[in-house]
Amino acid sequence: MKNSYSNIFTFNKKTLKKTVNYLKKSNVVGLPTETVYGLGGNAYSKNSIMKIFQMKARPKFNPLIIHYYNFNDAKKDIITNKYFFKLYKKFCPGPITFILKKKANSNVHPFSLAKLKTVAVRFPKHKILRSILKEIDFPLAMPSANKSSGVSPVSAEDVYEEFQKKISLIIDGGVSKIGIESTVVDLTSYPKILRPGRIDKNSIEKTLKLKINKDIRSRGIKSPGMTKKHYSPGIPVLINQKKYDGKSAFIYLGKKFKNKKNFFSLSKDQNLNIAASNLYKTFRLIKKKGYKKIQIAKIPNKGSGVAINDRIKRASNS
Ligand code: AMP
Ligand code: MG
Repeated sequence: MKNSYSNIFTFNKKTLKKTVNYLKKSNVVGLPTETVYGLGGNAYSKNSIMKIFQMKARPKFNPLIIHYYNFNDAKKDIITNKYFFKLYKKFCPGPITFILKKKANSNVHPFSLAKLKTVAVRFPKHKILRSILKEIDFPLAMPSANKSSGVSPVSAEDVYEEFQKKISLIIDGGVSKIGIESTVVDLTSYPKILRPGRIDKNSIEKTLKLKINKDIRSRGIKSPGMTKKHYSPGIPVLINQKKYDGKSAFIYLGKKFKNKKNFFSLSKDQNLNIAASNLYKTFRLIKKKGYKKIQIAKIPNKGSGVAINDRIKRASNS
């Protein structure tokens, strides 16, 4: 137990056992990953999947990412190809999700796939999560641990803020290092990036030795959960802002407005990886401070900036 939160636990042998037992009984657990915190459940169990969708109030058509310890565990569920192996070797475990065709005899419950014939698989890097995945003989279906369409949590306390006592176990694994969701790559045919993330287009192209189509909107029905509004802090978000309106919270890069009230820098050195890791933290802080609106300055559209722009664009659709 941690501080005043009776359902947040530090990780040790005892809580590992507790977590494994919970998961085996088809309960859902708040778990740390290097991207954001997840709401994890047994991907082979209908009960677990139903609980996840219900807790998040997530639309049934939005499939879940399935998390494995390694390829050996995943191979019974997915049909692989050369693109997968190259990216797996280079980036896994890490913040990248692959959309692959599902094997006909896969046990992944159809509800977690929104009845699609594809599976989204990820091999997370977070040490705590890996030790849990190693202990169980099923993969974890795990979306971000927040109410559908809201801001993803990057700490155990954020998960508590989302679900309070409606979740009985949250494992504290510190603040998520990457801070935004994984890069999602569709590998069912010619590779496509469905959701940008820390692993950017350039590094994927370099690894695969090919060019990826720039237009991530050409995702069609492949990824049903990705077109709607998302990542919303619950107050209006305005992007590409040049002029401060005098009352909103203003998010920017750099240190031009250092120590100035209402101004929030995502990275004083304008480092886009750091900026991405601070985005959701900053959204939550601004919301807590009671601001009614967020203005965001233009963010360079390269590296992790592409991921930031994707998230803030959709946050602005609220
Ligand atoms: P989230 O769980 O909110 O981080 O989002 C996961 C994203 O991965 C969703 O927006 C889905 O659209 C996408 N996704 C998950 N499973 C599949 C799948 N089987 N096929 C295509 N896209 C998927
Ligand atoms: Mg999410």
